[in-house]
Parts: sequence; structure tokens; C-alpha cells
Amino acid sequence: MKIYRFRYRKRVLQGVLKEEFLFPVIGSVFGDFRLGTSPVPIADVRILPPVLPSKIIGVGRNYRDHAKELDNPVPEEPLVFLKPPTALIGHLDAIVQPAASARVDYEGEVAVIIRKRLRGLADDAAVEDGILGYACFNDVTARDLQAKDVQFARAKGFDTFAALGPCIATGLDPAALRLKTFLNGRLVQSGSTAQLIFPIPRLVGFLSRIMTLNPGDVIATGTPAGVGPMSPGDRVDVQIEGVGTLSNTFTRPGAKEDR
Ligand code: MG
Repeated sequence: MKIYRFRYRKRVLQGVLKEEFLFPVIGSVFGDFRLGTSPVPIADVRILPPVLPSKIIGVGRNYRDHAKELDNPVPEEPLVFLKPPTALIGHLDAIVQPAASARVDYEGEVAVIIRKRLRGLADDAAVEDGILGYACFNDVTARDLQAKDVQFARAKGFDTFAALGPCIATGLDPAALRLKTFLNGRLVQSGSTAQLIFPIPRLVGFLSRIMTLNPGDVIATGTPAGVGPMSPGDRVDVQIEGVGTLSNTFTRPGAKEDR
């Protein structure tokens, strides 16, 4: 099932995609819901970020090949940081270059969307029931500022630096999600959650012992090798098999959004 959040005729709705139509969700996607009987064509809506999280948790160096390319050691425990919810954008929204940075990188990632409140789980606890589904994520990073600062809040926290979407896909195997990133149509990253140093269930349990995970919270699970800078006008597509493609363009500050 693919769950979208979208604007249609000035209303914000959630819907489930069937062929080219979105069937409105009645109820809560985190609990019980049914589908309305008046679908709208997906071509007629503006797609929004699929959830409004209370927090976006990032995990650094969770693929060996990426830790290696930035000359970083492989961590013994998940390396965790936060991105503010104000950084969130959706499919086809623009990533805006901050004046403070001369180098902004894309990082294609698999995002986990939390379904229910999780707190203090045991290391071997089953977490499937606590996960709503998966989405594509671009963990946009000001690489120059990341190198300069002790922590990542500035480098990863600018407005528009958390692209999520286009939808939440449910019922997928978290150990076998294939991820690809394209820069202007050219393949630049390719990986699978089978390669994660800390697999998704372990990450969810680990994080639940640090902070309460709320419905709609987002965990960005790390990026494979192949990160690189974007130039104004570039388009980045993050693609996950079974989810779809999240597309965003990179623009200078003040540039007009094209939608
Ligand atoms: Mg990342």
C-alpha cells in the first residue's frame, strides 16, 4: 500500500494510491482507517511530505563504503543526530542553497516512518508492528559546515534539507530495500538495507532507548557511498524499489519555485 499526503482543491488529505488514483483515507493512517469512495487523479494533486514528524533522526556512517569514502571509522554504536522538522520538504519541492555554505551534498537514504509510540524496547524486541512503512529521503548536508562544526545541527538543519517522499510504502521487508540516487539522471549511489551496519530493527530499538518515538517520526537510516555536491539547477532523484522516486531540484536562495 502506498500512502500519500497531498493538497487537492485547498484541502490537505491523505490517500492510498490505486493505479493513478488516490482514495482518501478516513480515520488515521497510524491506527484504523478506511478508504473513501471518491478518488482523485494523482495528476491533479500537489504531493506533500507524507508525514509531519515530531522529529527526524539521522544515522551517520551506517554503510561501510560511505564511512570509507569520507575517511571515517566504522562506528561501534549507531551515530545519531537530529534534523529539525522545519527542514522538511516533499516530492518536487526545491532544496535551497544557504548563503552560509559553498558545498551542499545530496545523501540518498531509506527513511523509516514510525507507526506507534515506542519507548525503551529491548534489544531483541520485535519492532515490525511499530513501523508504518518506508519512504525515500535526501539527507541534504552542507559538507563544508559539517567539517567546521563539532556537531551536525547546522550542516544538516537548514530549511529544505530534509526531503521525504513521495509516499509511505507499507508491507516491505526492511532488510531488502534497494536504494538508488540519480544526479541529473546519472546513477551516483546504489545500495541495499541488506548492507546496513546497524539494520533497521536494531536502529529502532536503540533509538527507543534514547528518546520516545512518536507516530510519524522519521528515521533516516544512513547513506551508501557516492555522495557528492549539487549545483544550482541540478535534479536529485532518490529511488527505492517498492516505494517510488523522490525528485527535488537544487536552487539558489531567492530563486522562484517552479510549481
Ligand atoms: Mg545521512
